[in-house]
Amino acid sequence: MHIYDMIIIGGGPAGYTAALYASRAGFDTVLLEKLAAGGQMTLTGDIDNYPGFDEGVDGFTLGMKMQQSAERFGSKTEYCEVLDVDFSKSLKKVITSNGDLYGKTVVIASGANPRELGIEGEEKLIGKGIHYCAHCDGRFYKDKTVVVVGGGNSAAEDALYLSKLAKKVYLVHRRDKLRATKTYQEALFKSKNIEFLWNSEVIQFISDNRINGVKIKNVTDEIITEFSCDGIFISIGRKPATSFLKNSVNIDENGYIIADESTKTNIEGVYAAGDVRTKALRQVVTAVSDGAVAVHYAEEYISKINDRM
Ligand code: NAP
Repeated sequence: MHIYDMIIIGGGPAGYTAALYASRAGFDTVLLEKLAAGGQMTLTGDIDNYPGFDEGVDGFTLGMKMQQSAERFGSKTEYCEVLDVDFSKSLKKVITSNGDLYGKTVVIASGANPRELGIEGEEKLIGKGIHYCAHCDGRFYKDKTVVVVGGGNSAAEDALYLSKLAKKVYLVHRRDKLRATKTYQEALFKSKNIEFLWNSEVIQFISDNRINGVKIKNVTDEIITEFSCDGIFISIGRKPATSFLKNSVNIDENGYIIADESTKTNIEGVYAAGDVRTKALRQVVTAVSDGAVAVHYAEEYISKINDRM
């Protein structure tokens, strides 16, 4: 039976940074990825808040480069789906669509996906006016009109961020008050170019190859109004990719793995890196940092268990 030093679940920036650091440290490392390198980054056309690229970089290229950086030091990628895990013993088992793998340590870097509205045409219009990350794509809307959907902290943060770039921001929320914290609310209410559409739901996208408007229904009087806009930012929460864990590590009420900046989970030798863990800022740069930190603590753990043997 082959025993890896480290099994990494997920090929986004956190996963491939862990793979780079681990393989460079001489760990026998395998990274498991379902589709292609890059994770959520691949959905972003231009990443210009990741240092080192003076003209920005597209997410697909950055993902590919991160994979190549890790593989340069011997890390390998296996394309498969993780179905289950068993962390009950010191030797960790990862059950995949290609068979079972065993590792001394596991880094979970499976990410989180934005929640979709589920309206017709949404998928087709991604990048053509539909966005899920204001910090990534907001800059395309300088002096334009945008709609932000949601009432939580993410929507509040996105609306505030966009209000500094766009001419006008409509904040569409399905209830009559925000879920966002008081600090955000105060800032939102002060803003001159944010208009609130309360008790309202987006029911249709108006598009001609790209978004040029939206139909919004007021849920109290059922009146439907058409608004012209250049872009729509959907900020209605995220779905962390943790279903395969089946409660084998501690998870918070939103589905994120509970881990602090050390990336340590409640299971020794199991780390959570990137968007899948509880954290304040979910960005490529913070995911990359998590990947390196996870390997740092994994090295400590491996030398501890090797001393015991
Ligand atoms: P969230 O707190 O779950 O809020 C999601 C919002 O979207 C809610 O207002 C919800 O409406 C609305 N919503 C959900 N499904 C919808 C649908 N199908 N159609 C229309 N609206 C829908 O999610 P989040 O804002 O992404 O935040 C996630 C977590 O990260 C939270 O714990 C948040 O505090 C944290 N976060 C923290 C910060 C910060 O502290 N700086 C920043 C961002 C996020 P209802 O209110 O009606 O349920």
